[in-house]
Formats: sequence, structure tokens, C-alpha cells
Amino acid sequence: ADRSSAELIRAEEPVLAHNYHPLPVVVARAEGVWVEDVEGRRYLDMLAGYSALNFGHRHPALVEAAHRQLDRLTLTSRAFHNDRLAAFAEGLAGLTGLDMVLPMNTGAEAVESAIKVARKWAYEVKGVPDGQATIVVAGGNFHGRTTTIVSFSDDPVARDGFGPFTPGFRSVPYNDLAALEAALDETTAAVLIEPIQGEAGVLIPDDGYLAGVRELTRRAGCLFVADEIQSGLGRTGRTLAVEHESVLPDLVLLGKALGGGIVPVSAVVGRRDVLGVLRPGEHGSTFGGNPLAAAVGSAVVALLETGEYQRRAAELGAVLESGLAALAGKGVTAHRVRGLWAGVDVDPAIGTGRAVSERLLREGVLVKDTHGSTIRLAPPLTITRDELEWALAALEKVLTGT
Ligand code: PLP
Repeated sequence: ADRSSAELIRAEEPVLAHNYHPLPVVVARAEGVWVEDVEGRRYLDMLAGYSALNFGHRHPALVEAAHRQLDRLTLTSRAFHNDRLAAFAEGLAGLTGLDMVLPMNTGAEAVESAIKVARKWAYEVKGVPDGQATIVVAGGNFHGRTTTIVSFSDDPVARDGFGPFTPGFRSVPYNDLAALEAALDETTAAVLIEPIQGEAGVLIPDDGYLAGVRELTRRAGCLFVADEIQSGLGRTGRTLAVEHESVLPDLVLLGKALGGGIVPVSAVVGRRDVLGVLRPGEHGSTFGGNPLAAAVGSAVVALLETGEYQRRAAELGAVLESGLAALAGKGVTAHRVRGLWAGVDVDPAIGTGRAVSERLLREGVLVKDTHGSTIRLAPPLTITRDELEWALAALEKVLTGT
């Protein structure tokens, strides 16, 4: 017989590494913004796979692209060309306004790839002495989980016990242009930041910060690398979050929603004179740029080219903003919203972010806490106004008991 949710949760315990602490729900199927558990209970997905599901679960156009490709060709490795990759790269370059694409699979791989590219660029183009390149990052960053990436995290949970660490990084406070300027010198290869810090609690920098980073990196003769893995692809009401300040970085990192919630797809997208430093044999990935990924990625690009998802995120973001503003003093101590993306600080007297997430689960709403008493809201961009208002009402009920 099929196992119940409780049985499946118990079954995981001895056989799965405990690197996550999932909420006690076992999802068995999903469509659009709704998921269903093993017992048939329905939940509104207000996390959307940490923004990997920007187009909802199983978007028909994306599922169709995947099905069609599954029936033709799934993998060649880059030992050979495949007939899907050119269109994917052309589409992504066009969508971002940049020139070239380095296809990878996961977000962390895109970050690692950008670090390698920036270092090589520093030695070959900028003329930094070999082995001296530095990359400036921001405090509170989250860029992934590899040994190099946790080397420049300041989160002890992410770092402790995983050294020795990779050298060559300098951290400055986020949203502080003076500190950034002071950290730049002739060894700087790049500044790597999130345009909005997602895991830190959806921290939105002051207006002018991203334009300031662009200006400082230009003056210092180093690269601006924007990690848009969580902020990009429609989430904030624009294709890229940097567009809110009309900024074009030298390298943009994409992931999560680029695979439509179907396959892992990430990419470094950048200027030709930067990505052009890579030559055959110097970097690669067996699965990066595979035809299934490219077909789904192209379908994602096509959805974003319509502008509909960006528009929905911007319009419904205003609903989210006013709904959260109405909860100020009713259990919400602070909130930050950009597009359909919110960080909500809950009064610790009411409960931890985890406790609030568990209560929302019982009301049929899926969210996830981050750092203590913050919950993050990031529904699929396909959510309707009614559904969003229903989720906000559930949040009010959980916070105020009414
Ligand atoms: N960069 C940012 C900004 C992220 O939010 C994440 C994941 O949450 C990553 C990188 C890492 O992506 P992945 O988990 O696919 O390696």
C-alpha cells in the first residue's frame, strides 16, 4: 500500500542526510500555484521552490517543450554540438542585453564559473599579477554551498566545520558604497553581489546602490557580477532586478527559474570580452547546455519575452505591499517588498519564523522562514489577485488569531 505522509517522513529519517529541516508536508502532485499532499490536502505554494517555480508548477508551455525534447534528444555532452543550444544562448543574450552564455546546471556552479572567469579576466586582461586577484563580496551574502562559496559567507552555520577555505575574497557591508570603494584596488577582479539579498531576508538596497556599484566598478577597472539566481527572471517586476536602476553588469548569473522548475539549468551571461577569456578545455560540465535543458530554457525565455510575468509581478507586488503594510503592528514588525517577493519580519513574541511557517501550513499556505523571525513570500508569478489576498488573510489569521 502507498505510505502516508507521516510514514514517509519517518522513512526519510534514517536514509537521508539531514542537511535540510523540511516542514512536515509530503507533496505528491502540483499544478500552477497549488500543490497537493499524499492525503489529497491542497496548499497554496508561496515559496515557489525558492523562485525556481516563477511560472508555477508544470506550466503547460514548459511541460510541452520538455515532452517534445524528451522524444527527440536528451544529452550529447559538449563533446558534440546539439541542435537546441544556439537558440537558447541567442534567446538569453537577447533577453539580458548581453553577448554570450556559459551554460551550467545549478546556481552554485554558475557562481563558481563566474569566479573562475573573473580571475582569468583579471590576469589576462587587467594585468593583475598571477595568484593575486581578489573578489569583493557583501556581508550577509548567499551564493550557494560549495567550499569556495562558503569561504566568503559570514553565516557560521554555512561555514563552520568546512574549512580550510579558499582565499582571495574581501567582504564589505552590503548597501555601503563607501566601504565598497575603499575595498577596490589594482588586484580587484570583480565585485560579486546580489541585487537584492534573498536568503538574508529579502534585503533591498537603497536606491542608487546598484548604479553606484556599476560606477565604482567601472572606475576601478573591475567587473560587476550580479547574482540574479533568485532575483532574476521576472520575480521583482523586471526581467532582472538590476533593471530597476537601469544597470547592466558585466556578468549576470541566472539559475532556478531558468529551468522552469523542471530541470536544473543555470548560466553565466556576459560580455564577449569577458566570457571570451575561456578557451577549450579550461572549464566545462557534462550536463551544462544539454538539449533538454536548452529546450526548457528557451521556452522560459519565450515566456519572459512576452513581458506578462514581469507585469504581473509588478502589479501584484503592489497588492502584496499594501496587504503587508496593513499587518504592521499586527504581528509584522517590518516588511520589504519588490515585485512578488517579500521579506516579513514577525514579532518574536508571536513565534519564530519556523513556528509561523508551521501555522501557515495548517492554514493551507506553504512558506519558509529564513534567519530567525523572518519569513519570505515568493509565490509563482502566475498567482491571481484572489489567491494572493487569500494567502495574506491566512497570514493575518496566523499572526493575530482572527
Ligand atoms: N545564488 C543565490 C542568490 C541564491 O539564492 C542561490 C540559492 O538559493 C544560489 C546562488 C545557489 O543556487 P543552487 O542552490 O542552485 O546551487
